[in-house]
Amino acid sequence: MQRFMTVDCEEWFHAANVDCAAWDGLQQTVHENTMRLLELFARYGTTATFFTLGDVALKHPQLIETIANAGHGIASHGFGHKSVFTLTQEEFKQTVVNSKQILEQTSGKKVTGYRAPNFSITAQSLWALDILTGCGYTMDSSIAPIANYRYGISGSPVEIHTRRTSAGMLHEVPVSPLAPLRNIAMLGGFYFRVFPVATALRTIEANERDSRHSCFYIHPWEVATLPHDARIPSRFQSVRMRHNLSATMQKMEAMLREFRFTAISIP
Ligand SMILES: [Zn+2]
Repeated sequence: MQRFMTVDCEEWFHAANVDCAAWDGLQQTVHENTMRLLELFARYGTTATFFTLGDVALKHPQLIETIANAGHGIASHGFGHKSVFTLTQEEFKQTVVNSKQILEQTSGKKVTGYRAPNFSITAQSLWALDILTGCGYTMDSSIAPIANYRYGISGSPVEIHTRRTSAGMLHEVPVSPLAPLRNIAMLGGFYFRVFPVATALRTIEANERDSRHSCFYIHPWEVATLPHDARIPSRFQSVRMRHNLSATMQKMEAMLREFRFTAISIP
């Protein structure tokens, strides 16, 4: 059964929606935290798909090369972490073209996969799929088959499926909904930190019983505490981002001991 490990490779301040004018003065942690994940994956024979921001590749080209040389997949997470539904179609096109170009240059690999920042391909931004296909992407993992307060399309298939776009076919690989809260929570990120690891394990087991893939996601900033002076503009986002960070690595170890994961591959 397919179990996909995915990493949304970004800085804590990208996730925190800190204004980009302030980024240069902030402590960067993506390099050291990604190295922690790479070391963990090496120990368990895990390969992963790294959905990486163009901004990260621009500042850490060596890191992208290291990830690619370790046998992991490189895909795009856009350029500057703006939600798709806040961009014009032309602005979105620029982010997917520019990130693809810099990720291909730094990794030496062809980049054909994409995941939107904040899973922000929703009912009002489905036009993005046409642009992705037109720009040479063949796989997307942006449509969350849930409906929480930030993202998702309730009722969207939880299985890997193909979407017809104006520029051709696109494989959609949804992140898995979390078993007990199927319509609001997902397998990874904040929900992985909030709920006991057994919840993730039961979700994967249930997927296997139903002959369905599992797709897990994590961020490098989730594997260590945030910088002590990290200022997150929204109080709610701050609580959400800081919750139980110290347990992430331990919980991932527990999951990787039970299940073998690989990078996304389409049969
Ligand atoms: Zn992200």
